[in-house]
Amino acid sequence: MGHSKRCSWCNLKNETYVKYHDEEWGRPLYDDQKLYELLILECFQAGLSWECVLNKRESFRAAFDGFDIDKVIAYDEKKKQALMNDPGIIRNRLKIKAAVDNSIVFKALQKEFGSFSNYIWSFTGHKVVLEEFTVRTTSPLSDAISKDLKKRGMTFVGSTIIYSFLQSIGVINGHSKDCMCYTPKVSLNEGACRINEDILFFSGEHLDALPMYERLED
Ligand SMILES: [Zn+2]
Repeated sequence: MGHSKRCSWCNLKNETYVKYHDEEWGRPLYDDQKLYELLILECFQAGLSWECVLNKRESFRAAFDGFDIDKVIAYDEKKKQALMNDPGIIRNRLKIKAAVDNSIVFKALQKEFGSFSNYIWSFTGHKVVLEEFTVRTTSPLSDAISKDLKKRGMTFVGSTIIYSFLQSIGVINGHSKDCMCYTPKVSLNEGACRINEDILFFSGEHLDALPMYERLED
């Protein structure tokens, strides 16, 4: 496995990053606890590299009480200040505030949709999105989800952050075609936009033809 081809962004010298690419990134995730951790980490990523955040993941877990959402929601000013003094994490007052505020919204979404997983996967009808022939950092899907999360009160959830999050949790399968993790069960013979049981497949000029996302456009 050592010399297998991987997505070009994956820094092979960083064991943590390689493990993340091979075992987590792009794999459909439905566990609210893991979704919560990744979303909070993505918010901290804003303006920085994902690799930087990933390297600090264990420190984040320790600092944020193992990402126990109820504990995070209850953080007071004293705890926020303690986080500001923790050299193991990204010390940004606005992001720390966002982590707490976003947790409240996350919890509300769990209540409204039964789970955050249900909420986030509902945007694609619980299907994986495969975007062919493209390198992009936002899409109509991430635009729509970003807009909805902001409307609900989250911050640091711009379209680029959400696009990255969606790739991370496997709503969007972003593995490159020559990556060993690229295993979509669709073929290109129908070209254009094609839908099968598990995957929403888009390519070329049809990349933005995403009718399901229109429910949020108002
Ligand atoms: Zn890959």
